[in-house]
Amino acid sequence: MNQDSIVDLVKQHQAGNPGGSPQEAPKTSQEGAVDHKAQMMSENIPVDKNVEAALEALLGKVKSKMAWSEIVLPSQGLLYPDGQKTIRIRPFTFEDERILKSMDGIKDPDAVIERLLRNATDGLEVGELTPHDRVYVLYRLRGISYGDGYEVSHDCDKCSITSKLELSIKSLTTTNLTREHMVFNLPDSEQECEVKLPRMQDEHLYNNNSNLMNNMHMFVYRVGNITDKTIIEAFIHKTTVRDIDTLRNRIFAPEYGMENHFFYTCAGCSTKNKVDIQLNENFFTAS
Ligand SMILES: [Zn+2]
Repeated sequence: MNQDSIVDLVKQHQAGNPGGSPQEAPKTSQEGAVDHKAQMMSENIPVDKNVEAALEALLGKVKSKMAWSEIVLPSQGLLYPDGQKTIRIRPFTFEDERILKSMDGIKDPDAVIERLLRNATDGLEVGELTPHDRVYVLYRLRGISYGDGYEVSHDCDKCSITSKLELSIKSLTTTNLTREHMVFNLPDSEQECEVKLPRMQDEHLYNNNSNLMNNMHMFVYRVGNITDKTIIEAFIHKTTVRDIDTLRNRIFAPEYGMENHFFYTCAGCSTKNKVDIQLNENFFTAS
């Protein structure tokens, strides 16, 4: 290998002897670069360790923030096998964020949310969650990923003045499910009844009124001491609308989970406005 310095090479070139030693052809710049790279690579192992250590130091505080944490579901262990009442969640990552940003072009935001949920939760199949637990998990994911504050702008229902509002997710009330919600007396037949609550994957069973009526018996576990589905289905067909209405509300409109709205008073006209919190792509951004 040519050990001459650049100054020597220039001198040799000027002297009309470009190769240095006559046996060795002068290196093209490309060959020189390859040699240089090889030398760098042989020196690279300690450099890599330094990079790793530097990165580790930079991400020291992030590590704990990216960790999995356990949350208690509003269903309180009353609905899932083995009385499971907690699942683990972790903040969204760069990759999750990319999935989210692709939402605009996608016709089915539910599918995107489904994917995010699958990525950032652990312990229960996403489809197994009830709709209320699912919304609760989404709120909590939003909180640990982007912070507790959520900016919403709303046009006053009366005077149309736009208010910029800062909602604190922590300030929203969570109502826990109780066993009393699922075991109750029907008003007319006066039978004690026990119901099950639908999961995300059951949505097709109650997505319109006719499906809901046809499948209601599947969510009634017991009427009196009867658990036979055929008899329960016949009972539903023959009992009063008041009994049916009670069943429908208990099964399909249970009141538990996190509040999905908040109120504010318009500064312009003092009207009290109700704002529904939309779980759209804006919900999952830092603000
Ligand atoms: Zn107003």
